Amino acid sequence: MAASESSLYLLKLGELTLKGGNRAGFEDILERNLRDLLRGTGAKILTTAGRFYVRTPQEGEARVEETLDRLMGISGWAKTRICEKSPQAVFAVCVAEGKALAAQGIESFKIEARRTDKSFPLDSYGIARGAGDAVSEAVPELRVDVRKPQGVITVEIRERAYIYGFSRQGRRGLPVGTAGRGLLLLSGGIDSPVAGYMMASRGMKIDAVYFHAYPYTSEEARQKVVKLAEIVGRFSLGIRLFTVGFTSLQMRIKEQAPEEWTTVLLRMAMMECAEKLAKHRRSKCLITGESLSQVASQTIENINCTGSRVKLPILRPLIGMDKESIIRAAVELGTYETSILPYPDCCVLFSPPHPVLRGDIGEANRLYEGLELGEMIDTAIRESVMERCSFPG
Ligand code: ATP
Ligand code: MG
Repeated sequence: MAASESSLYLLKLGELTLKGGNRAGFEDILERNLRDLLRGTGAKILTTAGRFYVRTPQEGEARVEETLDRLMGISGWAKTRICEKSPQAVFAVCVAEGKALAAQGIESFKIEARRTDKSFPLDSYGIARGAGDAVSEAVPELRVDVRKPQGVITVEIRERAYIYGFSRQGRRGLPVGTAGRGLLLLSGGIDSPVAGYMMASRGMKIDAVYFHAYPYTSEEARQKVVKLAEIVGRFSLGIRLFTVGFTSLQMRIKEQAPEEWTTVLLRMAMMECAEKLAKHRRSKCLITGESLSQVASQTIENINCTGSRVKLPILRPLIGMDKESIIRAAVELGTYETSILPYPDCCVLFSPPHPVLRGDIGEANRLYEGLELGEMIDTAIRESVMERCSFPG
């Protein structure tokens, strides 16, 4: 398109704009995240008058769009074209935007025009009318509807002419890194990856720990967790995944504890281990995929038992969600297909046929202390393996 000199992306900031005096700090982190994600692409970030733009050479467009689609902290974005400040050039770009809207199946539109440069020969109304006529004539599939248009083409006449018609939803939430670091207990199941994503969308940087019971759980089961961490890491600027060998702990629990208590006691050991790891790695909380009463170990009494040895806050973002909603979220996130791969998790192999449903917290702690797991936990942490998971690769 001759009239367009370059294309540019305008970011719409969401919840960030409610931050009042702290807003600048949030914006700085958003900018830093965006810069990290776009490193090496030649794209540039521009901030003027409280707005964020990304400018890219044309061959970088796909990469920029893919990046904006996974960026936490923006409510939307639009591809913007810049052209010279003449009515003809502006109308020509509007026609191109109109064609793009029609190609998406949009049937009605309006032009929204703003003019801060009063030397432009048309006022806002004149721009809207002229551009509207030009688009209607060139794109007969689109009709003008100023009240409830399916698509809007925005024209801003400032130091240059900016036009955008194509806009996409952002992920909303807050920029990753504005809410400290949390340690996610990541199993190979459906729930915990969704929990990690939800906390990342509140601005939390995510580390993950996976308790592996080799050879009772296979290397494939671990690879599945790596894959899940990569997918969640796509939205959280990567994830550090710690794999902790839990076989000896599980064996001791299985051999020495009453069978009906094994799952609750194993969860208590996981929590204690996760808290120690979190403190080494400066995480401020633990995150789990627990959902109230979803399984026997997640009754309110048992959740109380499993959390009782930990002082750090335990965040359970799925606590009030039903399974169907969690599955829908996993499908949207892209983890579902991986989560349902049939490699059993350690807890499946060790689950008793009749687990305690409403564990007494005093008894849980008496049994737990009798197992004397402290040293085994310290050894497991010392021998844990860390890897960085980011997407793609
Ligand atoms: P998920 O689908 O996340 O595995 P679940 O419904 O299978 O959850 P449980 O297996 O009872 O539930 O696990 C509850 C939570 O404990 C998980 O969401 C996860 O945060 C943590 N967890 C369970 N097993 C492991 C593991 N092997 N490694 C790390 N965390 C685990
Ligand atoms: Mg599980």
